[in-house]
Amino acid sequence: MRAFAYQRTTEVRDALSLVAEHDGARFLAGGTNLVDLMKAGVESPARLVDIRSLALGEISETPEGGLVLGATVTNSAVAADPRVRRRYPALSQAILAGASGQLRNMATVGGNLLQRTRCSYFADPSEACNKRVPGSGCSALNGAHHNHAVLDWTQHCVATHPSDMAVPLAAFDAVVRYETLDGTAEVPLSEFYLPVGDRPDLETVLPDGALITAVVLPAAKVAVTSRYRKVRERASYAFATVSVAAALDIQDGLVQDVRLALGGVASRPWRARLAESALRGGPFTAERISAAADLELAVAQPLRDNGYKVTLARNLIEAVLSDLVADMGEGPSR
Ligand code: SF4
Repeated sequence: MRAFAYQRTTEVRDALSLVAEHDGARFLAGGTNLVDLMKAGVESPARLVDIRSLALGEISETPEGGLVLGATVTNSAVAADPRVRRRYPALSQAILAGASGQLRNMATVGGNLLQRTRCSYFADPSEACNKRVPGSGCSALNGAHHNHAVLDWTQHCVATHPSDMAVPLAAFDAVVRYETLDGTAEVPLSEFYLPVGDRPDLETVLPDGALITAVVLPAAKVAVTSRYRKVRERASYAFATVSVAAALDIQDGLVQDVRLALGGVASRPWRARLAESALRGGPFTAERISAAADLELAVAQPLRDNGYKVTLARNLIEAVLSDLVADMGEGPSR
């Protein structure tokens, strides 16, 4: 057992100062991932700075009609918020598809974005893992990797990002707001996660000691008609094998706007921009949906045991888009 210090703060600046002043200090919010990793010996912070008393627990409106999700709002509160359910239904659905009720009651917006991969080798200190110990190797590359990445991996790490919530956030162009001792900054979620490269231990662009304070959801008419669908190995309390967040706006038979993002396929939520571009501006036909999905997945590089994910992702894109169009009372032209 390793001893650690614990402090609770009520001011953002105090929390930032405490982490800056103490080597090995970490912020603690819901603790649903960090505490598990401490028990497994993967994380060993010298000090935990509890941020749950900071004034970051509200959901508020932006002047343009978007929403600001405070960093310590619980996942359950986001999923249940009537504004989220009405304007960004895929976000509510994604959160409810993740974890369990008890975990969602504790887990927070900021913590959800920063949760670590559920690659089993990462959680086992006896295994080689470049994400846990840089330069030690990757046990998953030739090991049990049927649920690992098919896009954008390198030989240094083939893990996936586990968040459901981050998938619709990627589709909706969410922005991560954070605070450092130098002030406030923002970064689009599309630039928040680093590509794997040769340092999979470096996961985000957050500066050392920075605190996520909110996630900003821009107003998006297309998001009103959105869905999240997740395929997993059991009916609940399982991470995505593949998931899709999609939003669609069709006017006069033509796709005005479409948003697509995939989960469970890469080290970060995967915005399917190639498929979006292929669909935007044209008629919504079954052939065009298939061609768009194929285009997006043409760059997939399955590992020895996870080629099924490419087929699954393709079929899921088709299914979710077709469901959305059925919701709108239209159907793909044939
Ligand atoms: Fe570690 Fe990544 Fe390899 Fe898993 S896939 S063992 S997290 S380096």
